[in-house]
Amino acid sequence: MGTVQRSDEVLEALRAHAKRITAPKRAVIEVLVHAHDHLTADEVTKQVQALRPDVSPSTVYRILEELDDLDLVVHSHTGHGAAVYHLAGASHSHVTCEGCHTTFEVPSEIYDRLARELLATQGFELNRHHVALSGLCEHCRGSHS
Ligand SMILES: [Zn+2]
Ligand SMILES: [Zn+2]
Ligand SMILES: [Zn+2]
Repeated sequence: MGTVQRSDEVLEALRAHAKRITAPKRAVIEVLVHAHDHLTADEVTKQVQALRPDVSPSTVYRILEELDDLDLVVHSHTGHGAAVYHLAGASHSHVTCEGCHTTFEVPSEIYDRLARELLATQGFELNRHHVALSGLCEHCRGSHS
């Protein structure tokens, strides 16, 4: 994991962008700060509602989008399911296993050479964390051989 952001840092960044800090927003940030896993928007909603049952899923979705637009939160597509969210401070890339559907964090530097070559040969700038690469994890490779 990279640096884990604290909720007051995220709230401070929101204030710097002149964004209103609402109770549902606080709850979403609280959930993301304490998440040990990659959460889909539905999972974020479930955990937010455990704190504040009055918050609707559409409110959570809107807040995630706002935080995403401000680069305070990033999302990643890790296979066929819904995108997962985490705080932008925890910067890393993802690989996802097609066997057990586990998402693993890998250091973004792993893609340095690929990123350099894509830029030099195709003029293409790689986004290292938006979409996960897929394959088979060590465990699943073992059980298939
Ligand atoms: Zn696996
Ligand atoms: Zn991640
Ligand atoms: Zn996306």
